[in-house]
Amino acid sequence: MNLKKYVELSSDYKSNSQKTRVFTEPFVAENFYCPCCGASVIGRKNNDKVRDFDCSKCNENYELKSKQGKSLGKIVPDGAYNSMLERIENNSNPNFYFLNYDKENFDVINFCAVPNYFFTPNIIIPRKKGIPNRPNYIMCNIDISGIPNSGKIFYIKDKKIIDKSKVLEDWNKTSFLKESHSVNSKGWILDTLKCIEKLEKTDFTLNDMYQFEKELKLKHSQNNNIQAKIRQQLQILRDKNYLSFTNRGNYKLK
Ligand SMILES: [Zn+2]
Repeated sequence: MNLKKYVELSSDYKSNSQKTRVFTEPFVAENFYCPCCGASVIGRKNNDKVRDFDCSKCNENYELKSKQGKSLGKIVPDGAYNSMLERIENNSNPNFYFLNYDKENFDVINFCAVPNYFFTPNIIIPRKKGIPNRPNYIMCNIDISGIPNSGKIFYIKDKKIIDKSKVLEDWNKTSFLKESHSVNSKGWILDTLKCIEKLEKTDFTLNDMYQFEKELKLKHSQNNNIQAKIRQQLQILRDKNYLSFTNRGNYKLK
């Protein structure tokens, strides 16, 4: 998919970030849909920075971050550090869309949605440099490399368009995380998902998971029984139909 025909819309704008915003918004609204329910999304023309798109049917909204370049990268600049943390604590942070495109021919390389419940305080990094005129005002970066792959719902991956049914399925597979209101319990589930992904296999054992014990202990130093916690998280993931127990100590991803 190509952005060229939308780029003309931005010729009146001077700043690059404004230009990108002006041409990527209609691209998304015309070509894509809400990953939660499949209905169309409506772009916002006003200055409401938190919500760029609203779903026309359900309550979800999405903030779009676009960049030139061959990959989505690791770090995405965002707004004020403190208000982002506050929104995560209150479960009121937005869902995000991330898009990257080729700067020569404007081909879209990746476009994905990340549900708001995949955001935890540890992936929000304060930016060293303040904004001009307000040096003490701390902005933030989002470390998207810290988000499990199951939280990146691709519509376009390496220029390939993903079927709508797969996009909706991928989104809804982890929607149970929405119920985790505490940042701590959500953090445990997300860390467990990341460990499972690191194994790079659909069938794995409890022993495979125990190799992450040290790593998890570093993140959750208060917890003195990491193995029990791992087992508990796997049980939650089973109850939520994310994986199944095949036999004692053996697991299979759905
Ligand atoms: Zn929707």
